[in-house]
Amino acid sequence: MPKLTKSTSIWDVTVIGGGPAGMMAAIEAGARGKRVLLIEKNAGLGKKLLITGGGRCNVTNNKPVVREMLSQYKEAGKFLFSTFMQYGVKETIDFFARYNLPFIEENEGRLFPNTQKAESVFNVLQQALQEHAVTIQTGKKVAVIKKAGTQFSVELSDGEQVLTQAVVVATGGTARPETGSTGEGFQWLAELGHTIHAGSTSLVPITVAEDWVAVLGGVSLPEATLSIYCNGTKRHKATGKLLFTHIGLSGPLILNQSKLIGDLLVEGDVVIKIDITPTIDASVIQAELLALFTATPNKKLKNVLGEIIKPALVTPLLQSLMLDGDVPVHSITAANRKRIGVVLKALPLSVTGLLGPDKAVATAGGVDLTEVDFKTMESKIIPGLYIIGDVLDINRPSGGYSLQLTWSTGAVAGRHV
Ligand SMILES: Cc1cc2nc3c(=O)[nH]c(=O)nc-3n(C[C@H](O)[C@H](O)[C@H](O)COP(=O)(O)OP(=O)(O)OC[C@H]3O[C@@H](n4cnc5c(N)ncnc54)[C@H](O)[C@@H]3O)c2cc1C
Repeated sequence: MPKLTKSTSIWDVTVIGGGPAGMMAAIEAGARGKRVLLIEKNAGLGKKLLITGGGRCNVTNNKPVVREMLSQYKEAGKFLFSTFMQYGVKETIDFFARYNLPFIEENEGRLFPNTQKAESVFNVLQQALQEHAVTIQTGKKVAVIKKAGTQFSVELSDGEQVLTQAVVVATGGTARPETGSTGEGFQWLAELGHTIHAGSTSLVPITVAEDWVAVLGGVSLPEATLSIYCNGTKRHKATGKLLFTHIGLSGPLILNQSKLIGDLLVEGDVVIKIDITPTIDASVIQAELLALFTATPNKKLKNVLGEIIKPALVTPLLQSLMLDGDVPVHSITAANRKRIGVVLKALPLSVTGLLGPDKAVATAGGVDLTEVDFKTMESKIIPGLYIIGDVLDINRPSGGYSLQLTWSTGAVAGRHV
């Protein structure tokens, strides 16, 4: 038994990291009568949670059938079965409903709080932590975790020591470090014998070479189709919501393909072609252009195109074709009219890179999944140590799947500690 000092406190469970995973674990452990300490280094809990979903928080995805939900996590899905059977989408919806926070569904099953505010999600968690008498210490940074006989000694950077029967590591990944997710947990876990897979950015916007995207910053296309080429060969196609930024592209369609794009950039040149009008056939677009050009020969090219696509897209699109939008359409040659039709179905952009972890929604990498018992979230290497949330090496698409992982792994750990 380690020597107790004045600044030593003793707990059943110590949860490190006050993000959604840590809060959920603390709530569930508290609900089972455990004496729980939740330690967070920021001045307050849930700093990242409060900026999720553009401040609206995409809490989960409406896929209550476990197998359907797990298919979204690809190879990691097979590890998560017993976790999600115990606490999946249904249990998450029920939990928030108990605190009078129903969800509303948006595109592709995304569920948001009906208040449209991440703060409401945060407030529910705060209320539940209080209800289950969880002791919260904020502004306290954990420096190291040591195994001390059958207990753990959690040492804080201010010299305090916490003795605890069980410890839950919920320190997050490395995306958006300014929110507190700086990857310290990986270091302790490696020291305790866990394998940590190197991180790379996984859900992150991309940058492109074309300057003209600058004027499109903030413009979104609710449904666009993206074809990804590497060294001239088509490698993938996907459809979804796309957002232009001042330096490139973002939105779920891009975020979900960013890992693949990053991998292809290692192989060579990556060009993406955007189909701005995916619901209209290429031949129909050409026919429509011809009909419009014939019906209104004196109308300016930019005004005619504004009838087919979002007006904001017209100038950059013409710039990419090096065509003057102020000329009447009767002066446009048939060859140039065809080029316009082609670009509407396949606007090319040269990818220059991915943004860094400071702009990422999630990072790939983390604790090797074979080293965790997913029925309990306990480490298979160190009994009494639990690992949850973004610390785990689980790739997932955007759409509420990240937060669902925190609710599921957090709740299961809290029920077994
Ligand atoms: C901009 C943005 C938007 C997002 N939107 C969505 C969305 O709408 N839907 C969705 O599903 N996912 C979203 N995500 C992803 C989601 O936010 C994360 O998956 C989730 O927050 C991970 O939760 P976590 O509890 O595992 O870790 P985190 O939320 O990263 O929390 C970890 C906590 O541990 C603390 N900590 C770290 N080290 C220490 C230490 N040494 N001592 C004490 N405390 C420490 C940190 O300060 C932090 O508060 C978004 C992410 C970003 C960046």
